[in-house]
Amino acid sequence: MALKITRPQGTEDITPKNISKWYTVETIARETAQSFGFREIRVPTFESTDLFLRSVGETTDVVQKEMYTVKAKETEFTLRPEGTAGTIRALLQNGMLNDALPQKVFYILSCFRHERPQAGRLREFHQFGLEMAGSASPAADAEVISLAKNLLDRLGLKNIALNINSIGCPKCRSEYHKALRSYFADREDELCDTCKTRLEKNPMRILDCKSPVCGDIAKDAPVILDYLCEECSDHFETLKKYLENLSIEYSVNPKIVRGLDYYTKTVFEFVTTDIGAQGTVCGGGRYDGLIEQLGGPATPALGFGMGLERLLLTMESQGCAFMTPKSCDLYIAPMEDAAADKAMLLAQSLRLSGYQAEYDIMNRGLKAQMKYANKIGAKFVLVLGGNELECGCAKLKLMETGEQFEIHLDDRFAEEFEDLAIQYLFQDILDEFEEE
Ligand code: ATP
Ligand code: MG
Repeated sequence: MALKITRPQGTEDITPKNISKWYTVETIARETAQSFGFREIRVPTFESTDLFLRSVGETTDVVQKEMYTVKAKETEFTLRPEGTAGTIRALLQNGMLNDALPQKVFYILSCFRHERPQAGRLREFHQFGLEMAGSASPAADAEVISLAKNLLDRLGLKNIALNINSIGCPKCRSEYHKALRSYFADREDELCDTCKTRLEKNPMRILDCKSPVCGDIAKDAPVILDYLCEECSDHFETLKKYLENLSIEYSVNPKIVRGLDYYTKTVFEFVTTDIGAQGTVCGGGRYDGLIEQLGGPATPALGFGMGLERLLLTMESQGCAFMTPKSCDLYIAPMEDAAADKAMLLAQSLRLSGYQAEYDIMNRGLKAQMKYANKIGAKFVLVLGGNELECGCAKLKLMETGEQFEIHLDDRFAEEFEDLAIQYLFQDILDEFEEE
């Protein structure tokens, strides 16, 4: 029978077959963030639409074309298209900016954007991201960039280029906007409709337009780096020095403006050419005006978002290692009803010690049970029949070598199993990061 209902376009199921890849990235992302003193935060999946209008910006593609806005009863909400706005809202609402600064939080969450689905571009995708609030120093920029770089390195990724730029502060930008308006004025008619309105409201947005025509017109546009005020220029130079100190290679790309309006000063991207056109695995920057704009105290801040689907695609294409999935430590095959009762208890005692234990709940014969044990990759198998129950001990078989070990079926069971597991399965933990 054909399945009538399928998942929405641009979404993906993450099945158990792939879950250990996600665990790998999530585990190392958490560890890396914690090694820099970041703490995890979890925020709602939807927020009031206004939050995104006021932060992401009304002239951005995200707000103009990509938001999932839902009306429930009389109130309007939007599924978060990114993590920064909700996180900053949460820092403010929970009074966290009154605590010792800097506040450093990270998150792993899904985002929703109504875009044309393609490889590396989904309508529901996942991000590892973080925000640091309270430091205006370029040392904070270096810290955040080096955290992203550490993570990419720890995942075993190669050839991911770091591009940085400074898009200045409102002070330098007002001069720059004038220069852009006069540059685009001549060819205003050729710009796409969205960009025509951007020309007056926010001309820098035109540089981020995905239309090839606008891209072509923007090719020789003035670059912001030539318009930076002294403070922004010093900030950028010091950041470059710090990156050199940390031996983090980078290129200055004066064309990066990023797709969200809240950025100021430093913006950066980590880009790969290994997964086709959607190669930006991480994007971020400083947003010194955002917290005040959302009604908080003027507080400099910065962060990044890393697309986990793109990260995994790159890891796969580069043959990076993933954690081995946990599999069955012991499969118990009872051959009669009395043995089934015992199997239940033995499995229970191992599970309480954290082992993965299973026994037959399908009423299968011994041959079919052994086939199943093989299929689930059971490391030890215990066959329980009348003889074993009578003498109170059984043979535990190590599947990899066929070796057999005598084990007691009474109170000693869990402890004796543990001794054997440490001796014969410990290698597994050491091999945790070996390739699948
Ligand atoms: P792009 O230019 O590729 O559209 P963006 O500028 O919209 O990216 P950000 O808003 O900075 O991206 O989001 C941070 C990261 O989230 C991106 O670098 C990317 O890795 C990931 N990302 C963004 N949009 C999507 C999407 N639709 N599907 C999958 N990953 C995405
Ligand atoms: Mg985008």
